[in-house]
Amino acid sequence: MLSITAVALRLGLNVVKGRFRCIFPERHAHGDRTPSVSINEEKGFFKCFVCDNVKGDVVSLVQLVLGKTRQETAKWLNSDTPSIVRDSQKFFLKKRTKGEDKPKFFKEKMIFDFLKLLSPIQPYSATGWWLAGRGIYKPTWDKMLLRCIDDYSLVSRKLLEKYSLDDLQIGGLFNSYGKLRYGRRPLIIPYIDEKNRPFYFQARAIDKDIKPKELNFQGTIPFPFNKAALDGEHGIVYLCEGAIDALTLLERGFNAVGIPGVNTFKPEWVSLFKNKKVILCLDNDEAGRAGEARISALLKGAGLETRSFRLLPEGEDINSWFVE
Ligand SMILES: [Zn+2]
Repeated sequence: MLSITAVALRLGLNVVKGRFRCIFPERHAHGDRTPSVSINEEKGFFKCFVCDNVKGDVVSLVQLVLGKTRQETAKWLNSDTPSIVRDSQKFFLKKRTKGEDKPKFFKEKMIFDFLKLLSPIQPYSATGWWLAGRGIYKPTWDKMLLRCIDDYSLVSRKLLEKYSLDDLQIGGLFNSYGKLRYGRRPLIIPYIDEKNRPFYFQARAIDKDIKPKELNFQGTIPFPFNKAALDGEHGIVYLCEGAIDALTLLERGFNAVGIPGVNTFKPEWVSLFKNKKVILCLDNDEAGRAGEARISALLKGAGLETRSFRLLPEGEDINSWFVE
């Protein structure tokens, strides 16, 4: 739950773009001038490309760098270090030290309860107009169970009737100031499974001046947006960056799924794409192209056929292209 990058920085490692120099530079050519140890922030792991034994989780990292025992390491990690603990995690740690672990489906249940408090998108509402302006219409809003936060204070109050503030902060719906997150991002896009059960969501601003335009629920991304498209039948699926692009294609009758960001595609999702020919529609920019190569390699490794959707002009995404 600690950010492994933050811990690495606290250990004095010079982390640049998710990499740092190996702590055994003598094993590397040129003293590992080009850093060989990569960090997987999402999984909380690090790994050196050269040294077999330089890998592991946050605890192993501290042990390796400081030469501490596992117990000493736990103490070191739990000591009050606000500089490395994100606000949301402070509460988590506080709770954990009390030994009050949350039930297994705590977050899932909270997402269910949150979404139940929200209203479907209304035609002629600001959110409805925004979606229609992007060529995404009501049958698609309804099918994908899109929701809108109409009244932040009402939703906050209802949540606080059901959950303690501590729990809402641990669950990730509330920030450390005790406020519902996703302010001014009223369009809520749930990630539903094939039985229409939500397990994750993104909150989207409809005001173009709000940055960042999307906020993700803080938690594991369980599967791509529109999991129902991955039904195991033979066919084509378009893989887009972001739910809005996937919605754009769905509206036009294409079978599409979305991932919240180009780097969020997980190797364990490959099996979900069974029997699909995957058309990769990531943004045509540097990050998109790099991500596309990585995802394509993962899918091809599982024997799946992939194609790149090369129609997109440089700098455009699916939605902007279709709307034009
Ligand atoms: Zn090494």
